[in-house]
Amino acid sequence: MARIVMKFGGTSVADVEKIRNVARRVKRESEAGNEVAVVVSAMSGVTNQLVAYVNEAAKLHDAAEYDAVVATGEQVTIGLLAICLQEMGVKARSWTGWQIPVHTDATHGKARIESIDTSQIEACMKTGEVAVVAGFQGLAPGNRISTLGRGGSDTSAVALAAALHADRCDIYTDVDGVYTTDPRIVKAARKLDRITYEEMLELASVGAKVLQTRSVEMAMKHHVRVQVLTSFADIPGTLVCDEDEIVEKALVSGIAYSRDEAKITLVGVADKPGVAAGIFGPLADAAINVDMIVQNVSHDGKTTDLTFTVGTADLEKTKKVINDAKAAFGFKELIADGNVVKVSVIGVGMRSHAGVALTMFRTLAEKGINIQVISTSEIKVSVLISEEYTELALRALHTAFELDAA
Ligand code: ASP
Ligand code: MG
Repeated sequence: MARIVMKFGGTSVADVEKIRNVARRVKRESEAGNEVAVVVSAMSGVTNQLVAYVNEAAKLHDAAEYDAVVATGEQVTIGLLAICLQEMGVKARSWTGWQIPVHTDATHGKARIESIDTSQIEACMKTGEVAVVAGFQGLAPGNRISTLGRGGSDTSAVALAAALHADRCDIYTDVDGVYTTDPRIVKAARKLDRITYEEMLELASVGAKVLQTRSVEMAMKHHVRVQVLTSFADIPGTLVCDEDEIVEKALVSGIAYSRDEAKITLVGVADKPGVAAGIFGPLADAAINVDMIVQNVSHDGKTTDLTFTVGTADLEKTKKVINDAKAAFGFKELIADGNVVKVSVIGVGMRSHAGVALTMFRTLAEKGINIQVISTSEIKVSVLISEEYTELALRALHTAFELDAA
Protein backbone atom coordinates (compact mmCIF):
# COMPACT_ATOMS: atom_id res chain seq x y z
CA MET A 1 0.00 0.00 0.00
CA ALA A 2 1.23 3.44 -0.89
CA ARG A 3 0.10 6.93 -0.16
CA ILE A 4 -0.36 8.86 -3.38
CA VAL A 5 -1.26 12.41 -4.29
CA MET A 6 -2.66 12.65 -7.82
CA LYS A 7 -2.99 16.06 -9.45
CA PHE A 8 -5.00 16.79 -12.59
CA GLY A 9 -4.57 20.00 -14.58
CA GLY A 10 -7.20 21.97 -16.46
CA THR A 11 -7.08 19.96 -19.69
CA SER A 12 -7.63 16.71 -17.76
CA VAL A 13 -10.82 18.09 -16.19
CA ALA A 14 -11.97 20.20 -19.15
CA ASP A 15 -15.49 18.70 -19.20
CA VAL A 16 -17.58 16.12 -17.33
CA GLU A 17 -16.57 13.28 -19.63
CA LYS A 18 -12.89 14.03 -18.96
CA ILE A 19 -13.60 14.27 -15.23
CA ARG A 20 -15.12 10.79 -15.48
CA ASN A 21 -11.90 9.62 -17.13
CA VAL A 22 -9.99 11.11 -14.20
CA ALA A 23 -12.32 9.34 -11.78
CA ARG A 24 -11.50 6.01 -13.47
CA ARG A 25 -7.80 6.58 -12.86
CA VAL A 26 -8.38 7.56 -9.26
CA LYS A 27 -10.58 4.52 -8.76
CA ARG A 28 -7.83 2.27 -10.06
CA GLU A 29 -5.30 3.62 -7.54
CA SER A 30 -7.79 3.50 -4.71
CA GLU A 31 -8.90 -0.06 -5.48
CA ALA A 32 -5.29 -1.17 -5.60
CA GLY A 33 -5.35 -0.47 -1.87
CA ASN A 34 -3.58 2.88 -1.90
CA GLU A 35 -4.41 5.91 0.19
CA VAL A 36 -5.31 8.58 -2.31
CA ALA A 37 -5.68 12.35 -2.20
CA VAL A 38 -6.51 14.09 -5.46
CA VAL A 39 -5.78 17.73 -6.26
CA VAL A 40 -7.55 19.36 -9.20
CA SER A 41 -7.32 22.59 -11.19
CA ALA A 42 -10.25 24.46 -12.64
CA MET A 43 -11.59 23.34 -16.03
CA SER A 44 -9.26 24.69 -18.71
CA GLY A 45 -10.07 28.27 -19.65
CA VAL A 46 -12.20 28.89 -16.56
CA THR A 47 -9.60 30.73 -14.50
CA ASN A 48 -8.82 32.99 -17.48
CA GLN A 49 -12.50 33.83 -17.72
CA LEU A 50 -12.71 34.59 -14.00
CA VAL A 51 -9.65 36.84 -14.19
CA ALA A 52 -11.25 38.64 -17.14
CA TYR A 53 -14.44 39.26 -15.11
CA VAL A 54 -12.43 40.81 -12.31
CA ASN A 55 -10.56 43.08 -14.69
CA GLU A 56 -13.81 44.09 -16.33
CA ALA A 57 -15.24 45.02 -12.93
CA ALA A 58 -12.24 47.20 -12.13
CA LYS A 59 -8.75 47.34 -13.55
CA LEU A 60 -7.39 48.21 -10.13
CA HIS A 61 -9.07 45.94 -7.61
CA ASP A 62 -8.80 44.54 -4.12
CA ALA A 63 -6.52 41.50 -4.37
CA ALA A 64 -8.46 39.64 -1.67
CA GLU A 65 -11.66 39.93 -3.71
CA TYR A 66 -9.76 38.85 -6.85
CA ASP A 67 -8.92 35.69 -4.92
CA ALA A 68 -12.52 35.22 -3.82
CA VAL A 69 -13.50 35.18 -7.50
CA VAL A 70 -10.69 33.22 -9.15
CA ALA A 71 -10.64 30.49 -6.50
CA THR A 72 -14.14 29.40 -7.51
CA GLY A 73 -13.05 27.45 -10.61
CA GLU A 74 -11.52 24.73 -8.46
CA GLN A 75 -14.62 24.43 -6.28
CA VAL A 76 -16.58 23.31 -9.33
CA THR A 77 -14.13 20.57 -10.28
CA ILE A 78 -13.72 19.09 -6.77
CA GLY A 79 -17.48 18.70 -6.45
CA LEU A 80 -17.85 17.18 -9.92
CA LEU A 81 -14.98 14.75 -9.40
CA ALA A 82 -16.34 13.65 -6.01
CA ILE A 83 -19.72 13.04 -7.64
CA CYS A 84 -18.19 11.01 -10.50
CA LEU A 85 -16.21 8.93 -8.00
CA GLN A 86 -19.29 8.26 -5.88
CA GLU A 87 -21.15 7.26 -9.05
CA MET A 88 -18.47 4.61 -9.62
CA GLY A 89 -18.82 3.31 -6.10
CA VAL A 90 -15.71 5.00 -4.72
CA LYS A 91 -16.05 6.75 -1.36
CA ALA A 92 -15.00 10.36 -1.88
CA ARG A 93 -15.54 13.90 -0.66
CA SER A 94 -14.47 17.37 -1.71
CA TRP A 95 -12.26 19.76 0.27
CA THR A 96 -11.73 23.45 -0.39
CA GLY A 97 -8.43 25.03 0.59
CA TRP A 98 -9.99 26.73 3.61
CA GLN A 99 -11.77 23.60 4.84
CA ILE A 100 -8.49 21.69 5.21
CA PRO A 101 -7.06 24.34 5.88
CA VAL A 102 -4.07 25.18 3.70
CA HIS A 103 -2.62 28.19 5.55
CA THR A 104 -0.95 30.82 3.39
CA ASP A 105 0.54 34.26 3.90
CA ALA A 106 -1.45 37.39 3.02
CA THR A 107 0.05 37.98 -0.44
CA HIS A 108 -3.27 37.74 -2.23
CA GLY A 109 -3.01 36.64 -5.86
CA LYS A 110 0.39 35.07 -5.25
CA ALA A 111 0.22 33.66 -1.75
CA ARG A 112 2.78 31.26 -0.30
CA ILE A 113 1.75 28.16 1.58
CA GLU A 114 2.89 28.29 5.20
CA SER A 115 1.47 25.07 6.57
CA ILE A 116 -1.12 22.42 5.85
CA ASP A 117 -3.17 20.83 8.57
CA THR A 118 -3.44 17.25 7.33
CA SER A 119 -5.35 15.78 10.30
CA GLN A 120 -8.78 15.74 8.65
CA ILE A 121 -7.45 14.48 5.31
CA GLU A 122 -5.48 11.72 6.99
CA ALA A 123 -8.49 10.62 9.02
CA CYS A 124 -10.52 10.55 5.83
CA MET A 125 -7.90 8.56 3.91
CA LYS A 126 -7.67 6.01 6.75
CA THR A 127 -11.33 5.10 6.18
CA GLY A 128 -10.65 4.49 2.49
CA GLU A 129 -12.31 7.72 1.43
CA VAL A 130 -10.65 9.61 -1.40
CA ALA A 131 -9.97 13.25 -0.53
CA VAL A 132 -10.63 15.52 -3.50
CA VAL A 133 -8.80 18.78 -2.82
CA ALA A 134 -9.09 22.12 -4.58
CA GLY A 135 -5.71 23.23 -5.88
CA PHE A 136 -4.62 26.85 -6.17
CA GLN A 137 -6.41 28.05 -3.02
CA GLY A 138 -5.68 28.53 0.63
CA LEU A 139 -6.64 30.42 3.72
CA ALA A 140 -4.93 33.73 4.45
CA PRO A 141 -4.75 35.47 7.83
CA GLY A 142 -8.02 37.15 8.75
CA ASN A 143 -10.04 34.22 7.39
CA ARG A 144 -9.71 35.30 3.77
CA ILE A 145 -9.52 33.05 0.71
CA SER A 146 -6.14 33.26 -1.03
CA THR A 147 -4.74 31.90 -4.30
CA LEU A 148 -1.21 30.80 -5.10
CA GLY A 149 -0.55 32.48 -8.45
CA ARG A 150 -1.33 31.13 -11.92
CA GLY A 151 -0.44 27.48 -12.31
CA GLY A 152 -0.48 27.21 -8.52
CA SER A 153 -2.30 23.92 -8.23
CA ASP A 154 1.00 22.12 -8.99
CA THR A 155 2.32 23.71 -5.83
CA SER A 156 -0.81 22.73 -3.91
CA ALA A 157 -0.26 19.11 -4.92
CA VAL A 158 3.43 19.00 -4.05
CA ALA A 159 2.84 20.78 -0.74
CA LEU A 160 0.10 18.33 0.15
CA ALA A 161 2.32 15.39 -0.82
CA ALA A 162 5.08 16.79 1.41
CA ALA A 163 2.73 17.36 4.33
CA LEU A 164 1.22 13.89 3.97
CA HIS A 165 4.65 12.26 3.51
CA ALA A 166 3.23 10.71 0.35
CA ASP A 167 5.23 8.09 -1.51
CA ARG A 168 4.55 9.81 -4.82
CA CYS A 169 3.00 12.90 -6.33
CA ASP A 170 1.65 12.17 -9.81
CA ILE A 171 1.01 15.31 -11.83
CA TYR A 172 -1.22 14.70 -14.84
CA THR A 173 -0.82 17.52 -17.31
CA ASP A 174 -1.26 18.39 -20.99
CA VAL A 175 2.12 16.99 -21.98
CA ASP A 176 3.06 13.38 -21.35
CA GLY A 177 6.40 14.11 -19.69
CA VAL A 178 9.50 16.24 -19.74
CA TYR A 179 11.35 16.31 -23.06
CA THR A 180 14.96 16.99 -23.96
CA THR A 181 13.68 20.05 -25.78
CA ASP A 182 10.45 21.36 -27.28
CA PRO A 183 9.15 18.51 -29.49
CA ARG A 184 7.14 20.97 -31.57
CA ILE A 185 10.40 22.44 -32.79
CA VAL A 186 12.79 19.51 -32.69
CA LYS A 187 11.27 16.33 -34.07
CA ALA A 188 14.06 14.25 -32.55
CA ALA A 189 13.26 15.39 -28.99
CA ARG A 190 13.01 12.52 -26.50
CA LYS A 191 10.97 12.07 -23.38
CA LEU A 192 13.22 11.77 -20.32
CA ASP A 193 12.65 8.88 -17.90
CA ARG A 194 14.10 10.86 -15.03
CA ILE A 195 15.33 14.33 -14.35
CA THR A 196 16.80 15.91 -11.22
CA TYR A 197 15.01 18.61 -9.26
CA GLU A 198 17.76 21.08 -10.07
CA GLU A 199 17.55 20.47 -13.79
CA MET A 200 13.78 20.70 -13.68
CA LEU A 201 14.06 23.97 -11.81
CA GLU A 202 16.38 25.39 -14.44
CA LEU A 203 14.09 24.15 -17.19
CA ALA A 204 11.03 25.64 -15.51
CA SER A 205 12.74 28.97 -14.95
CA VAL A 206 13.86 29.30 -18.57
CA GLY A 207 10.50 28.77 -20.12
CA ALA A 208 9.71 25.04 -20.24
CA LYS A 209 6.33 25.55 -18.61
CA VAL A 210 5.61 21.99 -17.51
CA LEU A 211 5.40 22.62 -13.77
CA GLN A 212 5.04 25.81 -11.77
CA THR A 213 8.57 26.78 -10.67
CA ARG A 214 7.53 27.06 -7.05
CA SER A 215 6.25 23.49 -7.05
CA VAL A 216 9.65 22.22 -8.15
CA GLU A 217 11.40 24.23 -5.44
CA MET A 218 9.06 22.73 -2.93
CA ALA A 219 9.55 19.18 -4.24
CA MET A 220 13.32 19.61 -4.05
CA LYS A 221 13.21 20.97 -0.52
CA HIS A 222 11.00 18.18 0.79
CA HIS A 223 12.29 15.37 -1.48
CA VAL A 224 8.86 14.72 -2.96
CA ARG A 225 9.12 12.35 -5.91
CA VAL A 226 7.08 13.95 -8.66
CA GLN A 227 5.93 12.10 -11.73
CA VAL A 228 4.80 14.16 -14.75
CA LEU A 229 2.40 12.25 -17.00
CA THR A 230 -0.73 12.41 -19.14
CA SER A 231 -4.25 11.40 -18.15
CA PHE A 232 -5.09 10.50 -21.75
CA ALA A 233 -2.91 7.42 -22.21
CA ASP A 234 -1.38 4.67 -20.12
CA ILE A 235 2.25 5.49 -20.74
CA PRO A 236 5.02 6.24 -18.28
CA GLY A 237 5.91 9.87 -17.76
CA THR A 238 9.01 11.54 -16.34
CA LEU A 239 10.11 11.19 -12.73
CA VAL A 240 11.53 14.30 -11.09
CA CYS A 241 13.77 13.10 -8.29
CA ASP A 242 17.03 13.37 -6.35
CA GLU A 243 20.29 13.05 -8.26
CA ASP A 244 21.25 9.78 -6.56
CA GLU A 245 18.14 8.12 -8.00
CA ILE A 246 19.55 8.62 -11.48
CA VAL A 247 22.09 6.01 -12.43
CA GLU A 248 23.14 7.11 -15.88
CA LYS A 249 23.68 10.82 -15.84
CA ALA A 250 23.82 12.57 -19.17
CA LEU A 251 26.20 15.47 -19.61
CA VAL A 252 23.34 17.61 -20.87
CA SER A 253 19.75 16.62 -20.08
CA GLY A 254 17.82 19.29 -21.86
CA ILE A 255 17.85 22.40 -23.97
CA ALA A 256 15.36 25.12 -23.20
CA TYR A 257 14.55 28.45 -24.75
CA SER A 258 12.67 31.54 -23.80
CA ARG A 259 11.42 34.09 -26.29
CA ASP A 260 10.26 36.19 -23.39
CA GLU A 261 13.48 38.20 -23.26
CA ALA A 262 14.37 41.75 -24.19
CA LYS A 263 17.86 43.19 -24.27
CA ILE A 264 18.81 46.66 -23.06
CA THR A 265 22.24 48.16 -23.63
CA LEU A 266 23.31 51.33 -21.89
CA VAL A 267 26.13 52.88 -23.84
CA GLY A 268 28.66 55.08 -22.07
CA VAL A 269 27.82 54.69 -18.41
CA ALA A 270 30.40 55.93 -15.91
CA ASP A 271 32.86 53.30 -14.70
CA LYS A 272 32.75 54.07 -11.00
CA PRO A 273 31.34 52.58 -7.81
CA GLY A 274 27.62 52.83 -7.28
CA VAL A 275 26.53 52.92 -10.92
CA ALA A 276 25.19 49.37 -11.08
CA ALA A 277 23.29 49.96 -7.87
CA GLY A 278 22.00 53.21 -9.35
CA ILE A 279 20.63 51.35 -12.37
CA PHE A 280 19.31 48.18 -10.81
CA GLY A 281 17.93 49.81 -7.66
CA PRO A 282 15.11 51.67 -9.46
CA LEU A 283 14.38 48.54 -11.54
CA ALA A 284 14.01 46.45 -8.40
CA ASP A 285 11.79 49.14 -6.86
CA ALA A 286 9.59 48.89 -9.96
CA ALA A 287 9.42 45.09 -9.45
CA ILE A 288 11.21 44.46 -12.77
CA ASN A 289 13.14 41.21 -12.81
CA VAL A 290 16.55 41.48 -14.43
CA ASP A 291 18.00 38.26 -15.77
CA MET A 292 21.34 38.32 -17.60
CA ILE A 293 23.78 41.15 -16.91
CA VAL A 294 27.11 41.94 -18.62
CA GLN A 295 29.36 44.86 -18.06
CA ASN A 296 32.35 45.39 -20.29
CA VAL A 297 35.76 46.54 -19.15
CA SER A 298 36.34 50.19 -19.62
CA HIS A 299 38.84 51.16 -22.32
CA ASP A 300 39.40 54.71 -21.25
CA GLY A 301 38.90 54.10 -17.53
CA LYS A 302 35.94 56.46 -17.56
CA THR A 303 32.96 54.88 -19.28
CA THR A 304 31.74 51.42 -20.16
CA ASP A 305 28.71 49.70 -21.71
CA LEU A 306 26.25 47.70 -19.69
CA THR A 307 23.85 45.14 -21.14
CA PHE A 308 21.05 43.31 -19.35
CA THR A 309 17.84 41.47 -20.13
CA VAL A 310 14.31 41.78 -18.79
CA GLY A 311 11.03 40.03 -19.63
CA THR A 312 9.43 41.25 -22.88
CA ALA A 313 6.38 42.50 -21.00
CA ASP A 314 8.61 44.77 -18.88
CA LEU A 315 10.49 46.36 -21.78
CA GLU A 316 8.57 49.64 -22.02
CA LYS A 317 8.46 50.05 -18.25
CA THR A 318 12.20 49.39 -18.06
CA LYS A 319 12.96 52.08 -20.63
CA LYS A 320 10.91 54.57 -18.67
CA VAL A 321 12.47 53.69 -15.31
CA ILE A 322 15.99 53.95 -16.75
CA ASN A 323 15.33 57.23 -18.52
CA ASP A 324 13.76 58.66 -15.35
CA ALA A 325 16.83 57.66 -13.36
CA LYS A 326 19.25 58.97 -15.99
CA ALA A 327 20.12 62.11 -14.05
CA ALA A 328 21.35 60.00 -11.14
CA PHE A 329 24.01 58.03 -13.04
CA GLY A 330 24.06 59.16 -16.67
CA PHE A 331 24.64 57.31 -19.96
CA LYS A 332 25.01 58.26 -23.61
CA GLU A 333 22.45 56.05 -25.25
CA LEU A 334 19.86 53.34 -24.48
CA ILE A 335 19.50 50.59 -27.09
CA ALA A 336 16.58 48.18 -26.72
CA ASP A 337 16.08 44.95 -28.66
CA GLY A 338 13.04 42.72 -28.19
CA ASN A 339 13.97 40.27 -30.96
CA VAL A 340 16.15 38.02 -28.88
CA VAL A 341 15.79 34.54 -27.46
CA LYS A 342 17.63 32.90 -24.60
CA VAL A 343 18.78 29.35 -25.27
CA SER A 344 20.03 27.29 -22.33
CA VAL A 345 21.69 23.89 -22.10
CA ILE A 346 21.13 22.23 -18.76
CA GLY A 347 22.66 19.23 -17.07
CA VAL A 348 24.02 18.21 -13.67
CA GLY A 349 26.75 16.36 -15.57
CA MET A 350 28.37 19.73 -16.25
CA ARG A 351 29.55 19.94 -12.68
CA SER A 352 32.12 17.24 -13.30
CA HIS A 353 32.81 17.72 -17.01
CA ALA A 354 34.43 20.64 -18.75
CA GLY A 355 33.72 21.64 -22.32
CA VAL A 356 29.96 22.04 -22.44
CA ALA A 357 30.15 25.77 -23.03
CA LEU A 358 32.76 25.26 -25.72
CA THR A 359 30.63 22.68 -27.56
CA MET A 360 27.73 25.08 -27.39
CA PHE A 361 29.70 28.05 -28.73
CA ARG A 362 31.29 25.98 -31.53
CA THR A 363 27.97 24.54 -32.61
CA LEU A 364 26.41 27.99 -32.84
CA ALA A 365 29.46 29.35 -34.64
CA GLU A 366 29.27 26.58 -37.25
CA LYS A 367 25.72 27.71 -37.99
CA GLY A 368 26.82 31.33 -38.22
CA ILE A 369 24.79 32.32 -35.17
CA ASN A 370 26.13 35.29 -33.24
CA ILE A 371 26.11 35.12 -29.45
CA GLN A 372 25.12 38.42 -27.84
CA VAL A 373 25.23 37.65 -24.13
CA ILE A 374 26.41 34.62 -22.17
CA SER A 375 25.61 33.60 -18.63
CA THR A 376 26.37 30.43 -16.72
CA SER A 377 25.48 28.67 -13.53
CA GLU A 378 26.83 25.44 -12.12
CA ILE A 379 24.52 23.32 -14.25
CA LYS A 380 23.51 25.68 -17.05
CA VAL A 381 24.96 27.69 -19.91
CA SER A 382 22.68 30.29 -21.46
CA VAL A 383 23.21 32.43 -24.52
CA LEU A 384 21.19 35.27 -25.94
CA ILE A 385 20.84 35.13 -29.72
CA SER A 386 18.70 36.73 -32.38
CA GLU A 387 15.18 35.31 -32.27
CA GLU A 388 15.18 34.27 -35.94
CA TYR A 389 17.74 31.54 -35.15
CA THR A 390 15.70 29.82 -32.42
CA GLU A 391 14.83 26.69 -34.40
CA LEU A 392 18.21 26.36 -36.03
CA ALA A 393 20.02 26.71 -32.70
CA LEU A 394 17.80 24.22 -30.88
CA ARG A 395 18.18 21.57 -33.57
CA ALA A 396 21.91 21.97 -33.90
CA LEU A 397 22.50 21.88 -30.14
CA HIS A 398 20.20 18.90 -29.69
CA THR A 399 22.31 16.96 -32.17
CA ALA A 400 25.63 18.25 -30.83
CA PHE A 401 24.83 17.07 -27.31
CA GLU A 402 23.74 13.66 -28.61
CA LEU A 403 20.18 14.03 -27.45
CA ASP A 404 18.48 13.06 -30.72
CA ALA A 405 16.20 10.04 -30.56
CA ALA A 406 17.72 7.01 -32.26
N1 ASP B 1 -6.64 27.22 -12.19
C1 ASP B 1 -5.44 27.94 -11.86
C2 ASP B 1 -4.83 28.56 -13.11
O1 ASP B 1 -5.37 28.42 -14.19
C3 ASP B 1 -4.44 27.08 -11.15
C4 ASP B 1 -3.88 25.95 -11.98
O2 ASP B 1 -4.49 25.52 -12.94
O3 ASP B 1 -2.80 25.45 -11.64
O4 ASP B 1 -3.84 29.22 -13.02
MG1 MG C 1 -0.61 23.93 -14.96
